[in-house]
Amino acid sequence: MDDIRVRDLMSSNVVSIQPQTGLMTAIQAMLDNRYSCMVVVEDRLPAGIVTERDIVRLAPRFLGDRSFVSIPVAEVMSAPVMTVSETTTLFDALVVSSSQKIRHLPVVDGQGRMTGLVTQSDLVQAHFRIFERQRAIIERSVRERTRELQQANEQLHSLSMVDALTGIGNRRAMQVDLDHTHRQAVRYKRAYSVALFDVDYFKLYNDFYGHKAGDAALRLIAEHLQAGIRKSDRLYRYGGEEILLMLPETNLHSALILAERTLAGFAALNIAHEQSPFGHITISCGVACQLEDGGFPTWEGLVDLADRGLYASKGSGRNRVTAIAPEDAMDDSTPRFSTGKVPESP
Ligand code: GH3
Ligand code: MG
Ligand code: MG
Repeated sequence: MDDIRVRDLMSSNVVSIQPQTGLMTAIQAMLDNRYSCMVVVEDRLPAGIVTERDIVRLAPRFLGDRSFVSIPVAEVMSAPVMTVSETTTLFDALVVSSSQKIRHLPVVDGQGRMTGLVTQSDLVQAHFRIFERQRAIIERSVRERTRELQQANEQLHSLSMVDALTGIGNRRAMQVDLDHTHRQAVRYKRAYSVALFDVDYFKLYNDFYGHKAGDAALRLIAEHLQAGIRKSDRLYRYGGEEILLMLPETNLHSALILAERTLAGFAALNIAHEQSPFGHITISCGVACQLEDGGFPTWEGLVDLADRGLYASKGSGRNRVTAIAPEDAMDDSTPRFSTGKVPESP
């Protein structure tokens, strides 16, 4: 599956429009070409997208004001537009389109110029064909050698995007998703945040209550986190008892508030942990934000900063949130923001 690239699936014969094109002309082009979206391109770079869904959403305005149809598409398009490169693998594109619920992905070359379009259904169909092919191979190997079947199952499992214990994204999905989100954030100068959660005294919990109870606690924590976030936010199992939350389009202040609320809400569940000084299960957290300007060149730098915040939370008593401001990241100075000291919103 990793050797199938977006360029093998995309339609390269795609009609695009300019930002100044009138809305009615765009709709007519969609009808003429039987397209469910039009990509808006400026100097060959994708600048936005207008989809059938956008047109339906705008319908009340058409009815209220007939001159509305002649406004430029730039005024109604969704922007910036998420893109994939020609060399993106089918798996990576599928992760991006399904986790971010994007049905149309413009494809770009090394210079960011549009070379085609791939739809979610193209990706799902290709994925399904591969899945079917792999299933047939597995069935044959069941008949032939049980050992071969076991190996193939392991391979299928590693292709999954979901963590088996908690049902949230696994580490592979996290890497793919963070990579895409980060590159988009850098290209379009957008902020986003990550929060890294780690269960406090979890080894003691396992030792005292047993590994099964530990597993149940991890599932509960994942459920609690999932219940408190927006649809566009995403959770991943980062490691054993560590969970990463990605918050697109979220500044540090909002991320801190969400993390604080999550920890407080979880502590209030009061799940007994006799071996912890708190008497119940608590979580520590580190938060970091990719700024619109001059952020980290790669997502690893941002996650590393969140990890340093988490480490500081552990060192200063646990059951708290810490964010280390990027300018402090090069030295070991005191954490800038910590529980109870959420900065005022600018
Ligand atoms: P700290 O407060 O510093 O984070 O201490 P800790 O005990 O939580 O950290 P430590 O890294 O010493 O131990 C982590 C524990 O998490 C050890 C391991 O058994 C447990 N753990 C990791 N993954 C799982 C899992 O999938 N299920 C269960 N039940 N336990 C797990
Ligand atoms: Mg840990
Ligand atoms: Mg821990």
